[in-house]
Amino acid sequence: MIHKLSVLAVSAALAASLAAPMSAFAKDGVYTASAVGRNGSINVQVTIKNDAIADVKIVDWSETHPVADLTKTKLIPDIIKYQSVDVDAISGATLSSFAIKQAVGECIEKAGLSLSKFEKAVPQKAALTDTKTLDADVVIIGAGGAGLSAAVTAAEAGKKVIVLEKNGFAGGNTSVCGGCFNSANIHQSHIKMTEGQRKIVEGILAEKPKSDLHKELIAKVSKQWKDYNAKKETVLFDSPEFHALQTWKSGDYKADLSLVYTLTQNTGNVMKQLEKIGFVWRDKATQFVGALWPRSNRAANFKSGVGYIDTFLAYIKEKNLPVTIELSTKANELIVKNGRVVGVKAQAIGGDEKGRKYVVNAKKGVILATGGFGANVEMRNAYDELWDKKLGKTTPTTNLPSATGDGIDMAKKVDANLVQMGWIQLFPAGDPQTGATSFKLGENSCIYVNRDGKRYVNESERRDVLAKANLAQKDGLFFVISSAKRALIDKDGRNAYGVKVEDILASGKSYKADTLEELAKKAGINAANLVETVKKWNEFCKKGTGDEMGRPTCMDDHRLDEGGPYYATLMTPSVHHTMGGVQINTKAQVINKSGKVIPGLYAAGEVTGGIHGTNRVGCNAVPDALVFGHIAAENLVK
Ligand code: ADP
Repeated sequence: MIHKLSVLAVSAALAASLAAPMSAFAKDGVYTASAVGRNGSINVQVTIKNDAIADVKIVDWSETHPVADLTKTKLIPDIIKYQSVDVDAISGATLSSFAIKQAVGECIEKAGLSLSKFEKAVPQKAALTDTKTLDADVVIIGAGGAGLSAAVTAAEAGKKVIVLEKNGFAGGNTSVCGGCFNSANIHQSHIKMTEGQRKIVEGILAEKPKSDLHKELIAKVSKQWKDYNAKKETVLFDSPEFHALQTWKSGDYKADLSLVYTLTQNTGNVMKQLEKIGFVWRDKATQFVGALWPRSNRAANFKSGVGYIDTFLAYIKEKNLPVTIELSTKANELIVKNGRVVGVKAQAIGGDEKGRKYVVNAKKGVILATGGFGANVEMRNAYDELWDKKLGKTTPTTNLPSATGDGIDMAKKVDANLVQMGWIQLFPAGDPQTGATSFKLGENSCIYVNRDGKRYVNESERRDVLAKANLAQKDGLFFVISSAKRALIDKDGRNAYGVKVEDILASGKSYKADTLEELAKKAGINAANLVETVKKWNEFCKKGTGDEMGRPTCMDDHRLDEGGPYYATLMTPSVHHTMGGVQINTKAQVINKSGKVIPGLYAAGEVTGGIHGTNRVGCNAVPDALVFGHIAAENLVK
């Protein structure tokens, strides 16, 4: 059961009784106004009756689901209940909240009412001080991808599950990420193997083994490659073993290879399980930015990572699984008895139970699924070993504000070993203001140009290579270039993340023009160079070899040879993923500083370390969270 999002039904009588006295000039009616939220304009409609706010509706918006949903189910009812625009903003959705409040204020003024009468301070409820005890078989901290994957697995095994989630909604960063999911040998039949890709396979097979498992994987892939060539295959080569080798290499061989292989062996199963519970996969894999191989899968029925979350939540509800998600409830401490983790201390930080403390007993064990620390400026600069401690407040992040590394702190206190904490990933192409990945037209791996109109990197490279190259451009800014045919704009005029294209263009961060010359002029790019750059790119796409930056393939979504209009989106790298964290074994059990398993404690997802090494491969994060969430629950319920 999911609760604590109780929406207060508000009667017109109550609204009227709280309203300001009748104004001589005010008119009953329906008024509209719009203000800019996080992703674009929010159009609001306000019904004024007897000098009071009788109703507020959002007519149109591009705000992020589920992060901004509480503005509809909490903020707006509060505005009506208290007849005030001075209600509390929704944490994590402040830009959306302020835009709604501003637009409602404008409607009030349009109706001829005095705004000051609708700016009354809202009474604050006294915080609760009691402590409540809850009991479950499995307690999971964090309702993101890892947490919900674990919750479904444990509940399907008949266990009673309590999930503690500090946000007022479930989803975590998983719900706001691009949602791509690497898995070998699926949805790849449309992809032809190129000469550049053959060289990549051969390069990996020519490596000197660095461990027994490395040797074993090279031997397996060598055999697969031999068979592939004997059959004169032309479709893309791939396998879980090759995925593991590429992943390990791309993290500079620093990850625990047994964890990497566990990940790549289990992605296919998790994809199948998701499909069984209602997730619909697109039937064509692509190569997302930093993914290194065309094995990135995405939802057909969702625009971002929220698809995994909504699918898990819907399934829990539909099957009436024994899962309770305690929202706005922050876990603070792991309870240890006789060396075993047996529960969690938590506190409600919002909602009707704000202030109440919880002792949550876990009969079988606790799973830490609290995500990373990308939004914790102090922590990321304290641990950073890759970016010269320059990940300060001005560096944007793709993360929700809740990614503060709480799980790392809790685990540290029970002697968990932390590994590879210094390696933090910057997403190469984020929005310069908000850091978000959602504000662009075209794929993240379309060609990048600087203001000089020149490319400067192979855009299918590792993410750390891309981020460094992008930061080296003037002010760390660059443009992603795409054409209208390849900009992934849907029939409703929204981009791949559901944001309205007209809002993106109005923001001044993306430009559109019929010709490249015009585009360059609008965006402030050297026109002659841009034309030349695109000409060379198109030649490469036609021939399939000889890219000036060494790309092994011109993917379909990156073509620019079909004419305009064209788009240029201004981007900068933003903090994305913290690769380090709590050490686990292949059963997702947490390891202590002496190398021993901590009984009763499991961890999954971004809170863990050792799965990615120095650089996380694009589209390996959601599989990491979902696979290890599943493995943690599977082992815990045994
Ligand atoms: P992952 O991809 O590893 O699942 P996410 O970021 O998707 O990571 O999910 C992590 C979730 O954990 C987020 O929803 C976040 O709000 C939640 N969380 C983080 N710290 C705490 C805490 N102390 N108590 C409860 N929930 C937490």
